Amino acid sequence: RAKAEGRGCHRFFEPGMDERMQARRSMEIDLRRALALKQLELVYQPQFDLASSDIIGFEALIRWHHPTRGLVPPEEFIPFAEEIGVISAIGEWVLRTACKQAAAWPKPVAIAVNLSALQFRGGKLAETVISALAQSQLPVQRLELEITEGALLNNTDDVLNVLNRLRELGVAVSMDDFGTGYSSLGYLQKFSFNKIKIDQCFIRDIDTHADRQAILRAVTSLAVALRMKTIAEGVETEAELACIRAAGCDEVQGYLTGRPMPGGAVMALLEPACSAENF
Ligand code: C2E
Ligand code: MG
Ligand code: MG
Ligand code: MG
Repeated sequence: RAKAEGRGCHRFFEPGMDERMQARRSMEIDLRRALALKQLELVYQPQFDLASSDIIGFEALIRWHHPTRGLVPPEEFIPFAEEIGVISAIGEWVLRTACKQAAAWPKPVAIAVNLSALQFRGGKLAETVISALAQSQLPVQRLELEITEGALLNNTDDVLNVLNRLRELGVAVSMDDFGTGYSSLGYLQKFSFNKIKIDQCFIRDIDTHADRQAILRAVTSLAVALRMKTIAEGVETEAELACIRAAGCDEVQGYLTGRPMPGGAVMALLEPACSAENF
């Protein structure tokens, strides 16, 4: 339509645009207040060792309880938080809250925290991590940080410096959503991750897709050669579980073995009396 009106001629009004901008503006106001109003919550999804069936850790996943929209998923508001510049504050809250809650768990399992690429800006991420560990008294070897390729895409050297610093402190670093970016393999030679999190898209229906099985086998043998662990994300069925076992994955995280749960449920799951029945 805009083309039909000729080059260089912009339409400043699109039906619905005003409403969309209003909605964005009010979402921005809401998100800026969400932390102070305590509308953010962390839920935790268990991760299991495939050989022993033991719970080895939990991934912290953020939830936003919006007063009128209800539960807003992170895929909707994390990119928006990055855009409006509140991701550092939210990310710091996630880190401090996850460390504090995990420090109180009855078993010393790992806690994995997702980092946004933008948290590497400003040069204070390592200090924030050190402070969160000190404040919570969480032993450093229990903390894992998850980063996606997006974090390494720009300013790779700056990000690598921070990652190396965190590594020296004893924090583990995982590559999240492995295989979905532009240069997954390239990043494996730039930084020695502790763990590769194989994205759900390779796991989904893997039992009926020989190509996905081949990819998974290749990734697990690569990980062995690079001395990195592997975890399969998004395992939903017994058939998928059997395939990731056969491919030699070390760990599993998915709806089949455990959905994300509130902090209170983690406490119950880790109580000695309940920990016998895993999967
Ligand atoms: P992710 O880090 O790859 O987290 C895994 C996502 O897969 C989670 O979605 C989890 O609930 C979902 N999942 C786990 N098992 C299954 C399964 O068996 N089937 C299916 N269909 N899904 C499964 P969630 O919680 O909606 O989070 C989505 C993404 O949002 C995360 O992907 C992560 O990139 C981002 N995110 C979540 N929490 C945070 C946070 O605190 N900070 C930052 N920066 N990003 C976060
Ligand atoms: Mg993650
Ligand atoms: Mg992932
Ligand atoms: Mg993801």
